[in-house]
Amino acid sequence: MSETKSSKRAPMDLATSTKSYLFEACKRLDFDEQTFRLLAEPSREVRVELPLRCDDGRIEIYSGYRVQHHNARGPYKGGLRYHPTVDPAEVRGLACLMSLKTAVVRVPFGGAKGGINCDPHRLTQRELEAITRAFVEKIHRNVGVNIDVPAPDVGTNAQIMAWFHDEFAKIYGYSPGVVTGKPLIIGGCEGREEATGRGVAIVIQEYAKHRAEPLEDKQVVIEGFGNVGRHAARLLGEMGLKIIAVSDSKGAILNENGLDLDELGTHKDSTGSVAGFSGAQDITPDELLKLPCDYLVPAALDGTIDAATAKKIKAKVVVEGANGPVTFDADPILKDKNIAVLPDVLASSGGVIVSYFEWVQNLQQLPWEHELVVQRLNEKLGKACQHVFAVATGQECTFREAAYHIAVQEIKDAIWAAGF
Ligand code: NAD
Repeated sequence: MSETKSSKRAPMDLATSTKSYLFEACKRLDFDEQTFRLLAEPSREVRVELPLRCDDGRIEIYSGYRVQHHNARGPYKGGLRYHPTVDPAEVRGLACLMSLKTAVVRVPFGGAKGGINCDPHRLTQRELEAITRAFVEKIHRNVGVNIDVPAPDVGTNAQIMAWFHDEFAKIYGYSPGVVTGKPLIIGGCEGREEATGRGVAIVIQEYAKHRAEPLEDKQVVIEGFGNVGRHAARLLGEMGLKIIAVSDSKGAILNENGLDLDELGTHKDSTGSVAGFSGAQDITPDELLKLPCDYLVPAALDGTIDAATAKKIKAKVVVEGANGPVTFDADPILKDKNIAVLPDVLASSGGVIVSYFEWVQNLQQLPWEHELVVQRLNEKLGKACQHVFAVATGQECTFREAAYHIAVQEIKDAIWAAGF
């Protein structure tokens, strides 16, 4: 396979990074150019214009996207992101990552991603509902229980999934499996909201087991205190690790003796940020990434650990709770510094695993207890970790290289098995 533009080292937006990681994986597996293209290019991209009448009478026009990467292993699956930076390239990269993630953890889905380039914090509840329903009206032919199943991501939540489900049901009738991450009362799954954060905690636990190291009192730094970061902090705290620093889009805080997470939660809920928490000192988000610690968990947006930042990282292990936080050109720098990276396709897969459980329960109309969800998540993710660790050991490669190796081979085999 000849070198392509994707293997160049800059610029490192998410789509370029993901394609570059994919290219390296295909090269190691000795796949030809056509196979790489089949794996790299999405099978469908949809873009729709969404006019919104705001509460004050103004008309705002947003763009909505859905990129379907591949469905050889099952229906397309992936989150919906509401964020001002959402654009086709970002959604394309995230869709590809979803295909890899579902393959690494062996859930019967392909990969997709979507979103709207709005700032949900500046929209009222009525406006959010209106734009979500308008999005469904425009893309309903491209989604469905056995076609493409969205879920929450940055800036979206269970309420938005409920509106999505309701608008879809107006056209096709009761179809709870069209979207996951719904509220429990309308077919959601116990433990779905915390699932990605729980997945981060499980992957750290499995890594410690693999290294025969204790977890007690290990120091953790978390970038991002939203759905993933906050649940990961709570669950890691319950497992005996010490969360010493966290950040959000408004600031960062540090307490080397460990943060009181209950008090921090109350502070965040009442002020909207972790900044200014009385039980810690304020630091800059940049300082946070460079703190010495055992586990650094980037759980905010993609690309926050680029080559320049990677040179200054002092963590022993980076655990990618977010999608694509370490860029392709930062990865070898971390490797050279002997910093292990537990990659996003493994470490942030708890959400899609529990989304799969939700989909199964919706198909069967048979809800599971919370305990069963947690038990099955532990089993599924535990097995995926052991597989990745074994391939990494056997091939003397990084965990990311091992995970990509597993995923790329799996997707290629499915495409070939289905035929053309
Ligand atoms: P969220 O919107 O709930 O939280 C994001 C958090 O990141 C917020 O606290 C925000 O303030 C913070 N943040 C934004 N920019 C920041 C910056 N520059 N520095 C520090 N903090 C910053 O989103 P989420 O659902 O927690 O998703 C976070 C990441 O995890 C994303 O990459 C997402 O794609 C990924 N992910 C989410 C899920 C899920 O189930 N929600 C599943 C898999 C992967």
